[in-house]
Amino acid sequence: MSDHEIQKRKALANVVASQTSTSLEVFSADRKRALENLVLSWPARHPNPVDWFHTHASDIKNIMPGIRDVWWVNPDFTIRWSLSLNHKDRLLNSHLGQYGIDVEHLSSHGLATSLYSSYGLATLYALKVDPNNHSLGYVVASFDVKTTLEVLIGELVGPEFNFLLRDQDTQLLTHGNLIEDLTLVKVSLNFADRNWQLWLQSPAQAVPMSRLIFWLGCLMSFLVCLFFYWQLSHAIQSSKSQAHYKAASEAALDSILIFECVCDSKQGICDFRLVDANKLALKRIHLDLKKPANLLLTEHLKILQVPHLFEQFKQVSQSGRPFEHTLNNSSALFDGQWMRLQVVKADSGLAMTVRDISLRYESQLKLKNSEARFRRLVDGLNRDFVYSLSPDNRYQFVSTSVSNILGYKPDEFIANANSYLLTVPDNIRQIRQRQSKGLKTPSYVQTLLSADNKEISIECNDSPVFDENGKLVAIEGIARDVTEDLILKQKIYYQANHDPLTGLYNRYAFDIKLKDMITNIPEEHTTASLCYIDMDKFKIINDTCGHQAGDQLLKGIANLLQQNIGKRDVLARVGGDEFCLLLLEQTQIEVKRSVQKLLDSVSAFRFEWQGRVFHIGASVGIVQMDKANLNAVDVIKAADSACYLAKYNGRNQYIFHDNTESGIEFRNTELKMLGQVQTALDQNNFELYFQTIKPLDIAANQKIRYEILLRMYDEHGKVISPGVFIPIAERHGLMSRVDEWVFTHTLALLESYPEHVKDLDKCAINLSGASINSPSLMKKLLNTLQRTNVPKDKLCFEITETSAVTNLVKAANVIEDIRNLGCKFALDDFGAGMSSFTYLKNMKVDYVKIDGSFVKNMCNDVCDFATVKAIHEIAHSMGKQTIAEFVGDIETEQKLQQLGVNFAQGYGISAPTPFADYLLSYGVEAVAS
Ligand code: GH3
Ligand code: MG
Repeated sequence: MSDHEIQKRKALANVVASQTSTSLEVFSADRKRALENLVLSWPARHPNPVDWFHTHASDIKNIMPGIRDVWWVNPDFTIRWSLSLNHKDRLLNSHLGQYGIDVEHLSSHGLATSLYSSYGLATLYALKVDPNNHSLGYVVASFDVKTTLEVLIGELVGPEFNFLLRDQDTQLLTHGNLIEDLTLVKVSLNFADRNWQLWLQSPAQAVPMSRLIFWLGCLMSFLVCLFFYWQLSHAIQSSKSQAHYKAASEAALDSILIFECVCDSKQGICDFRLVDANKLALKRIHLDLKKPANLLLTEHLKILQVPHLFEQFKQVSQSGRPFEHTLNNSSALFDGQWMRLQVVKADSGLAMTVRDISLRYESQLKLKNSEARFRRLVDGLNRDFVYSLSPDNRYQFVSTSVSNILGYKPDEFIANANSYLLTVPDNIRQIRQRQSKGLKTPSYVQTLLSADNKEISIECNDSPVFDENGKLVAIEGIARDVTEDLILKQKIYYQANHDPLTGLYNRYAFDIKLKDMITNIPEEHTTASLCYIDMDKFKIINDTCGHQAGDQLLKGIANLLQQNIGKRDVLARVGGDEFCLLLLEQTQIEVKRSVQKLLDSVSAFRFEWQGRVFHIGASVGIVQMDKANLNAVDVIKAADSACYLAKYNGRNQYIFHDNTESGIEFRNTELKMLGQVQTALDQNNFELYFQTIKPLDIAANQKIRYEILLRMYDEHGKVISPGVFIPIAERHGLMSRVDEWVFTHTLALLESYPEHVKDLDKCAINLSGASINSPSLMKKLLNTLQRTNVPKDKLCFEITETSAVTNLVKAANVIEDIRNLGCKFALDDFGAGMSSFTYLKNMKVDYVKIDGSFVKNMCNDVCDFATVKAIHEIAHSMGKQTIAEFVGDIETEQKLQQLGVNFAQGYGISAPTPFADYLLSYGVEAVAS
């Protein structure tokens, strides 16, 4: 090879090598610049930086062939985003160091490169987004080395040249065999900041120069066009996006203000000057911006009374960190009460957005206040707590007041609510079903165990919540501690239904039970009986021992009755000494047996009070219930009448009500009679009679002696016998009034007939037990006696043995008082009641009236005769005189005379005669004489 040829081949190789290296360097420089522009235009703050990066990096990749991918890398060097879809899974979040990049170097110098071989050879070119701000991360471009070189070198070098391109020890591209001689040219070039070596050798057969120059010209033109195209499109792109930004800023709902930095060589940043603002900002700020001072940020901050914020603004400019602040504006130069300032670094200055948040802020404030109010209200609850349940019934929320009621903290309660639940209402499932259908449900009560182990009743008022599709999403409500209310309710219910003395049902409860039972009586069969029980002579206990004793006895009787009835039978105290008993599912025979058993147990019951022992009986009226008498009121009435009849028939027995309603008739007659007694008392429809008491001893005082008797007239003037109306007056508490009537009228008559009084030995007036028991009547009687001019020893009071014995102490006192005035006393009906000679001994009476039941038949009945004889003898032995009643004939009179009985009274001696008539005739005679 000649020198010339060597020179020629070397020169040719030099030209091609230098053009190739220049092309590669220009190629890489364009792409580097594009990447530098990308990082320079990096927005300091962007709502979606990934989106921004993707758009801009894609533009670069599309415009610039040879760039295979662009990555955005986090400050911690993990790959955050890649343009390429290939291998994205593996790529994202992997560390940049894996790809040969010296990350330390990159961090400190802001730039690093590597050659990396995976899916083809690539040069990585990494740039720090902001050299002063590590937080914005890094951008890495991956150059597709193989394709780029094949295209560029293939076109520049041509197949006739042999060459080798290396990046340090790595062969990037090679062609042909290089021969180490003088024609071999070696050039270093910079591709994406990497040092490459190109060895190039012209082939032996040289290519015609003209052709080479032609192709080189073409290539240069192509590259120049490509460069201008890229510049132009970039310029168009940036002017387009500027226009977009401008339009967007004008359309923005926020005021946007752009400030540039005003620097001082000594102090650095000393202020910011307003250089641009959107229309809204100009409209909102009523400052004359033509005055230079008004353009300064410090002025604006002064007007807004927040000059201290300047330092924060300065910080933004220095650190690039954005700053936000909410401002309460009191200046009229800026519109809006509440403003939200957002300041970001823009170039070397600042961009500030101002948003008027008055409305939102105030409504937020209101919401906050109302929320706080609500919370205070909810947390301040004492006996209530608020809750929210999920649709599957689990607590999601409870207000803090739950701890006041149950002693659990809200979280604790939510976690364990199910284990605290003791009872839920039986119909809870139906309630939930109705709620899921949007139907109203009543409040319900459930029992929960409190932290101190008490059962707490909670009343829940649910209010279901639905979403817009009508699906149940929650159950909210308010719960109330009703434990005390329920206890009180139960107490009130108990009190309303029970008799406080005996604890039995009262009349009200019994009526309800009876009505319930009546509705449930089957069509045909009699299954229940109502017994009306009234204690016999109960008043005696009250009168002799006081009400306290009466109460004790009632309790005892209630207890006794309770013990003698079945579990399903219903017992109630319906009046003073009246009880009602419902006997269930018993035939008539069984009812008889049951009631007899009750009566026996009452008779056998002994009541002891302060050392005295009493026994008592009961009268029972029974109604068997069937379809014919299905009215509760009628049933009770019928049973009451039957009881009345039982009393009338002699007490201590039961009577079945018969459907002839005789009991009711009887009762009605009694009520009618009672009315007549009352009328008689008011209208003096009584008349006094007298019946002579004859002395049997001929030597005795023969002056007149009689007992005053009483007759009553009905509305037709018909006489009603005392045997009929006296028991009624006794039963209904009218006896003392009757006695008073008799006494006052008798005394008045005697006072009117003094002549008669002169002839009078004894006038006997009856005093009932009720009168002895009436202190007011006794007082009246004593007063009248003290005032009257009728000699007291001509008056004798007759008291019955029963009333005297039952009110022994009182009777003794009364007798004493009256006897002290000079009056006499007779013990009536002796032998009829609970006769006891012991009583007689202690009683200061002057006469004993032998009960007529022994006298009337004493001539025929030896027993009666003996009784009369015994009474007379004992009375005599005690110094008392005797009077025999019911003396019907002369024979009896004679027998009595033989026995020594002092006086006789009865139809055989003299029939009762109207007293006034008698006195009238006596008086006329007396006046005449
Ligand atoms: P009878 O044989 O005719 O039934 O006469 P009774 O003495 O039992 O008297 P009655 O049944 O007519 O009246 C019941 C009396 O019971 C009237 C009242 O003085 C008394 N009483 C009513 N309620 C109470 C009470 O709660 N305690 C006491 N100790 N006595 C009462
Ligand atoms: Mg009674």
